[in-house]
Amino acid sequence: MNKADFPIFQKYPNLTYLDSAATTQKPSSVIKGITQYYTDENANIHRGIYDLSAQATQKYEAVRGKVKDYFSIPHLEEIIFTKGTTEGINLVAQSFVLPHLKAGDNIVISAMEHHANLVVWQHICQQRKANLRVIPINQNGTLEMTVLDKLLDERSKLVALVHISNTLGTINPIKEVIKKAHQKNIPVLIDGAQSILYPDLNIANFEADFWVCSGHKMFGPTGVGILYGKRQYLEEMQPYQFGGDMIRSVTFEATSFAKLPHKFEAGTPNIAGVIGLGYALDYLKDIDKYAVNEHLKKLTNEATARLLEIEGLRIIGRAKNKSGILSLVLEEVHPHDAATFLNEQNIAVRAGHHCTQPLMDFYQISGTLRASFSGYNTMEDVEKLVDGMKGMKRFFV
Ligand code: PMP
Repeated sequence: MNKADFPIFQKYPNLTYLDSAATTQKPSSVIKGITQYYTDENANIHRGIYDLSAQATQKYEAVRGKVKDYFSIPHLEEIIFTKGTTEGINLVAQSFVLPHLKAGDNIVISAMEHHANLVVWQHICQQRKANLRVIPINQNGTLEMTVLDKLLDERSKLVALVHISNTLGTINPIKEVIKKAHQKNIPVLIDGAQSILYPDLNIANFEADFWVCSGHKMFGPTGVGILYGKRQYLEEMQPYQFGGDMIRSVTFEATSFAKLPHKFEAGTPNIAGVIGLGYALDYLKDIDKYAVNEHLKKLTNEATARLLEIEGLRIIGRAKNKSGILSLVLEEVHPHDAATFLNEQNIAVRAGHHCTQPLMDFYQISGTLRASFSGYNTMEDVEKLVDGMKGMKRFFV
């Protein structure tokens, strides 16, 4: 993976893009594929008898096959196209958990969840007088696994856990958590929003019951995402939204629903988005993810070592097992001022709470400056970040 594949770096050769955890840049094949669909292939899917519609349907459904192969998902019907991670989690909350959630039950999440994997669980717990239990973390940003055993019991209806933290970069031991939960017959949802470059992204092997992710964080377009769910659960779940495309037959008296996966894809879906996602998966398929991970490790280790030489700079999230995400706090400099300063040097980073406010409370900070690497970043980008932070220190402190 390199910058030459991504047109934005030709448009802005001086851009140091360090915000891939927010959204990745898009390779030209994805951009061209979406343009081609709208230029040459546009038609609505599933309903048309004419050629263009049949071809669009085939292209859309073929992406389900690509998702199946890429994530090693056992069955095509277990793949639902959503608009992103957030929608996937809301779908599981409303259609899987809420109908069975009773007063005194509990849902287990972790202290490092993105608001997308927190607020909806809190909301439905409040609705039903159930309890939200939180797996604590230590100062390094690692889950306190010994506490987990005490949190899981016969009233636990779901464990909802992030695989890779968007703020700390921590890679959680999801296999171990899933095993512990399954020993007590508790299903597990994994938030895989940040997982796309993880080298062994094999959902069947993880044995997660639900997995959610977003196209725009995996080199594809915005507005599209994937929900994987085990067939036995999806079969028994009620639809999330109602309307066209998700029915088998409708009368004024009653409606019967379509089979999986269409039961969960009401209305005209994001056809161009799904097709774009297919091109992103084609791009990713040809990437050696082990090599990309070695590269990311080098960038992260070098940046960590060099940044820690700056007096007054702290890195929030020091887990042993972590991805290319660095959350920085520079004493006496507000993260927004820091990001504005870096922007003057064409360095794009994110500042704030990163949709993890309880995590900010835990570390007693208002926010961080987050630099996140992807496969297209280089050592030169690391240099620029380090120089930028050093310049900032001279300027502000
Ligand atoms: N979970 C994590 C870990 C994330 O990083 C994000 C996006 N920042 C989300 C959930 C939500 O993703 P989306 O906004 O694409 O639905």
